[in-house]
Amino acid sequence: MPEIREISEKYTSLASELIDTIPGLEHIKEARPMITFLESEYEKKSQGKVILGLTEKVPSKNKWALQSDFTITIYTENLKKYNFDEEQERILMYHELLHVGIDDGRYYVKPHDLEDFREIINQYGAYWDEKNLPKMEAK
Ligand SMILES: [Zn+2]
Repeated sequence: MPEIREISEKYTSLASELIDTIPGLEHIKEARPMITFLESEYEKKSQGKVILGLTEKVPSKNKWALQSDFTITIYTENLKKYNFDEEQERILMYHELLHVGIDDGRYYVKPHDLEDFREIINQYGAYWDEKNLPKMEAK
């Protein structure tokens, strides 16, 4: 089955609520990069791990097709597998938004880094992604 992604109103509004309210996301509020929020029922995996969310930069060569700086994709079937509740969905979206890197007007996907992700740890604890979620990865 091919991976199909669709524009998600649900995740668009969840993300804009988080961007408006969480202090750790002020850089996004200020720089206003264009982010397209997508959802997919595809049961994505990478190296044996279940992928829940994915933040990607849209390459300039593809901007004729998608006028956006980033895409954030949430894999809804994988969330169901782990019985994600609303709070966990919020944390996942927050996690994905932390990958939106902005440096002097240049956009990039911020890699996982304990320092960068201190915010999420402060808010939700170091093991936020491991509570009853074996072998899961939020990319
Ligand atoms: Zn991640």
